[in-house]
Amino acid sequence: MEVTAIQTLATTTDPQPLVAAVSFHGVHKNFAAKPEDEPFRLSDINGEVPEGKVLTLVGPSGSGKSTLLGLCNLFLTPDEGEVRVLGREIRDWQTPMLRKTVGLVFQTPTMFPGTVLENLSLASKIHGHPLSNARELLARVGLEPDLLNRAAQDLSGGQKQRVALARALANEPKVLLLDEITSALDPAAAKDVEELILGLRREQNTSVIWVTHHLEQARRVGDLTWLLVGGRLVESGATEAFFENPQRDETRRFLRGELSGRDV
Ligand code: ADP
Ligand code: MG
Repeated sequence: MEVTAIQTLATTTDPQPLVAAVSFHGVHKNFAAKPEDEPFRLSDINGEVPEGKVLTLVGPSGSGKSTLLGLCNLFLTPDEGEVRVLGREIRDWQTPMLRKTVGLVFQTPTMFPGTVLENLSLASKIHGHPLSNARELLARVGLEPDLLNRAAQDLSGGQKQRVALARALANEPKVLLLDEITSALDPAAAKDVEELILGLRREQNTSVIWVTHHLEQARRVGDLTWLLVGGRLVESGATEAFFENPQRDETRRFLRGELSGRDV
């Protein structure tokens, strides 16, 4: 009986390299200063946010946190270096597609004139398809559907913040950039928003960069944490290690509340 040799193909057990949700490669950004100010420079930022992770970004006021977020969706472009979203450099993206993929929610939500429904529908209008899940979007952010026909400008601050979040979610973003989004909410509402974002990460593998000055929140919601001071990335690590066992003296001082402002 003839035996057929079965050749075992060499297999590799190495996993495929994962594409980061967002990665920074030698990024610098300068701002010309007003005469009374020191010039600001975001210097040599390197690091990545793996897909499906929450990165909490902390640092004193003026340390460059919002600037770093703005570099992820073409509000700003780097002076040097590259920012890649899902592996593609931001300047190689079409801006509308990048902004659909990367949602940004600000501390102070901007409502456009019109109803809540119209505010939620803005992005889908731009992309030429009707919004079919407005009620569901509102429910996801903990708002009643009867708000849909209310004038968005008349909502409370907390309601506007939730509508702004729902508006970003209408695009089904792969990456969410959150800039101090709970600072105007009471603690219970802030916790609700935290649950919502963590649910998105769990269920849709959404990646998040979350700027917060609230250190307990940064610790609660983060998988990874970065500290920016004066435009430099001082320390980055797993969130628990960052808070439990910081490696840098500057981080220890920051966690003790001894660093503030940009002059440090
Ligand atoms: P953070 O969010 O950590 O408080 P920012 O990223 O907003 O810090 O700002 C960092 C520094 O860059 C600040 O000194 C700020 O004044 C300056 N800055 C931010 N945006 C601009 C801009 N568009 N033009 C000039 N300076 C800016
Ligand atoms: Mg800021």
